[in-house]
Amino acid sequence: MAPHPGLENREAWGTHKVIPYFEDCFEATDQGKPMQLTTDNWRLATDTDKLHEECGVVAIYGHPEASKLAYLSLYALQHRGQESAGIASSDGEQLRLHKGMGLVSDIFNADALARVPGSLAIGHTRYSTTGNSALLNAQPIMVECSKGKIALAHNGNITNALEIRAQLDQQGSIFQTTSDTEVIVHLIARSREHTLPDAIADSLRRVEGAFSLVMLTPDRIFAARDPRGFRPLVMGKIPATAAHHADTVVFASETCAFDLIGAAYEREVKPGELVIVGPEGVHSRFYSAQQPQSSCIFEHVYFSRPDSMVFGRAVQESRDAMGRQLALESPVIADIVVPVPDSGVTAAMGFAHESGIPLQFGLIRNHYVGRTFIEPEQRVRDFGVKLKLNPVRNVLSGKRVVLIDDSIVRGTTSKKIVRMVRDAGAKEVHMRISCPPTISPCYYGVDTPSKEQLIAANKSVEDIRAYIGADSLAYLSLEGLRKAVGDSDPPVYCIACYTGKYPTKIVDVEEIAPAMAETS
Ligand code: SF4
Repeated sequence: MAPHPGLENREAWGTHKVIPYFEDCFEATDQGKPMQLTTDNWRLATDTDKLHEECGVVAIYGHPEASKLAYLSLYALQHRGQESAGIASSDGEQLRLHKGMGLVSDIFNADALARVPGSLAIGHTRYSTTGNSALLNAQPIMVECSKGKIALAHNGNITNALEIRAQLDQQGSIFQTTSDTEVIVHLIARSREHTLPDAIADSLRRVEGAFSLVMLTPDRIFAARDPRGFRPLVMGKIPATAAHHADTVVFASETCAFDLIGAAYEREVKPGELVIVGPEGVHSRFYSAQQPQSSCIFEHVYFSRPDSMVFGRAVQESRDAMGRQLALESPVIADIVVPVPDSGVTAAMGFAHESGIPLQFGLIRNHYVGRTFIEPEQRVRDFGVKLKLNPVRNVLSGKRVVLIDDSIVRGTTSKKIVRMVRDAGAKEVHMRISCPPTISPCYYGVDTPSKEQLIAANKSVEDIRAYIGADSLAYLSLEGLRKAVGDSDPPVYCIACYTGKYPTKIVDVEEIAPAMAETS
């Protein structure tokens, strides 16, 4: 393939030195003092009895306020990761980077955004799955290598990262982080291909697993998805205006990021596709042979926002269908349907519509729980859950309640919620879950506890019911879930956490154990 104009290799490709930039990284502070982010309060603040998505990515090409648009998009994607965030920008010549630990609002203010000028930007918000949670592993990762300056941000999990890293170590590569993302950077730096798009394609062919990534060079944006399309990545456009004569091309993990910046959804980046946006326009190529699609079904169950389009389908529609299907499969005689907020709300609406049982908000979520709090010395039972959820007694008292939630991971939170609803006077508590039992960890970019900690991997549904103290418990069937998300034949969704059958070869499961296992 002929090189893209301006992308020809101008230097010898012999050196494999990769120099990371950290000068503009900082710890987000609370009134000038380092933020106290201990494991305990972090866990309380981030619902440890849920599976966690670990990253959101965004890219903006051709807008005078690119980093501001990236910042706003990261706000919309904050649910995909709350541990660190960053933006890298280009003014056409220089790449600049600003990243830190904490929420997007902790890290960016007007001064910080002024440090990332230019009309091109990529952004990232992170919840770690591989590598520890240090600032070092916050993204974007920015390097200078034989291919020039590159910044990269990635959502997913590279399942052969350790294998490749060991090979690269032997060949003399020096890694600066423990993140699997850096593996891609080193592969690009070492590639024998003569243009950057070819070097990126070459590198992506060598990594396995799940990745949706965005890359920035001084004058281009690259966006790519793994050949199985595990994680979402969408492309959109902000139309040209009288003040700004060219269209702005945008990429994001979810379409909810587009709404805030006035971008229109155009399409998904397809599995195995590499999209290149530069002065010559938008180009696309497939870097890999077609493989069976395995998009993460849990994006529809829980991770993605209900106002997003994911894998070409409205998440709200899927969750409503899950609730309806659950009501058909596992009906119960009850007085009210109560969602576990926020993620159980849409499925509860579907369940209520289908069953004819009225929906009531019997649990109220406190949205303003900060990251640090001091627990009273006299221990409060179920403190972590009570901090976030409070029962509405006059709604629950004397009622037969159907509680709708999207998953049970360890079972500890469900147990506390059932107890809370009973303590508020409910006569009966029936739990309905809008997906099948989670029996296997995820190795494709979702933070899951080990199999020993997954309650459904070790107990029957009846034993789980007894453990959480509910009067009845039922999960949505796998067939019901696939129907609710509109899955086709052959299937296009990954369902490995419900079946234990993984769509790719999994290398050394223990070594790529999810981040939560590291800290537990
Ligand atoms: S294993 Fe589960 S969480 Fe992981 S990608 Fe597959 S469906 Fe999604």
